Amino acid sequence: MSDQSKIWLSSPHMSGNEMKYVQQAFDGNWIAPLGPNVDGFEKDLEKFLGQNTHVAAVSSGTAAIHLALVMLGVEKEDFVICQSLTFSASANPILYVGGIPIFVDSEPDTWNICPNALEDAIKYCIQKGKKPKAIITVCLYGMPYKVDEVKQVAEKYGVPIIEDSAEALGSSYKGQKSGTFGDISVLSFNGNKIITTSGGGALVLKDEIYKKKAVFLSTQAKDDAPHYQHSIMGYNYRLSNVCAGIGRGQMEVLELRIQQRRENHTYYKEIFTKFDSAKLLTEPNDDYFSNHWINAVILKHDEKTESLSEKLRDAFKLENIESRPLWKPMHLQPLFDKAPYFGSNFAEDFFHHGLCLPSGSNLTEKDKSRIENVIINFFKKN
Ligand SMILES: *Cc1c(COP(=O)(O)O)cnc(C)c1O
Repeated sequence: MSDQSKIWLSSPHMSGNEMKYVQQAFDGNWIAPLGPNVDGFEKDLEKFLGQNTHVAAVSSGTAAIHLALVMLGVEKEDFVICQSLTFSASANPILYVGGIPIFVDSEPDTWNICPNALEDAIKYCIQKGKKPKAIITVCLYGMPYKVDEVKQVAEKYGVPIIEDSAEALGSSYKGQKSGTFGDISVLSFNGNKIITTSGGGALVLKDEIYKKKAVFLSTQAKDDAPHYQHSIMGYNYRLSNVCAGIGRGQMEVLELRIQQRRENHTYYKEIFTKFDSAKLLTEPNDDYFSNHWINAVILKHDEKTESLSEKLRDAFKLENIESRPLWKPMHLQPLFDKAPYFGSNFAEDFFHHGLCLPSGSNLTEKDKSRIENVIINFFKKN
């Protein structure tokens, strides 16, 4: 085992100004899930996203997806379609509301939801007696999905989109920012994301009325009365004002973080172009702009059946460098083994041959040369 310090896949990267806002929270005694930092953080996000967005900050991206499903009226036994190649937090909230998840394969350009397989899934639901209540799309590893094609299918059948852009703050498609593609969009500020509040998330909504509704639901759904009065079920999901202070400090450097992650991508691109068997996840054309939150590579040798990606992961591990297989598709998870699945085997194939590489905005030149050495030596031997 290497005695060098660990290189992480994606670790928090503070600006230095977070404590200023956290201190303000303490000075004003706003140690609560409301206050000036929550309001300020929401405003910062709205300004960044543009497009007349209305942001409701909550305690996690998972909570935001849960509330999005509640707001779209998803109930027991309702169908909800979800991209299969994603992190479990995209799909778990479907179970929270008692819905039936239907998973859809990826296409090879963006690794995100395949518009054709999506249409098959919608037709299946209709044939089973009801239209799906929502489609959960994902901008995986920061890459926008085929926004126009997917939207066209969703609109043809009148099904709303919940866009999971937990990984994609700072990305865009045809100049429009990730986090504005869905009828409701979702962001995450978990510790591993491009910016963090330690834990946190947000719903991005199209109208102030919807934002009010999201805030109402996330603060226990209290009716307007002097006593505690409730007509519907609420949740305790609002973001802490202390955590929102971290978010405000992070928003000051978001543009810089995007630039740094994109520089990591350029660095990996230069390394991997030398090796025919490696295919890095890259923007398919100029319509796509990725924050390159995580760089992921598919490693394939036609003549070899062994998993090269696992071998590379072992090689990194020996040098105390974290890498990770791609997110295991939901339709292959024991938790979802009864869920219908549409598509072929792109997601599965990516999972078996893909590897996520260290991609933090805080990677140093020394870190990068350690990573590069592992890759170069690996290809010498394989
Ligand atoms: C991180 C993540 C989430 C969940 O966000 P949390 O804030 O950790 O709850 C949801 N979807 C995807 C794709 C993610 O990567």
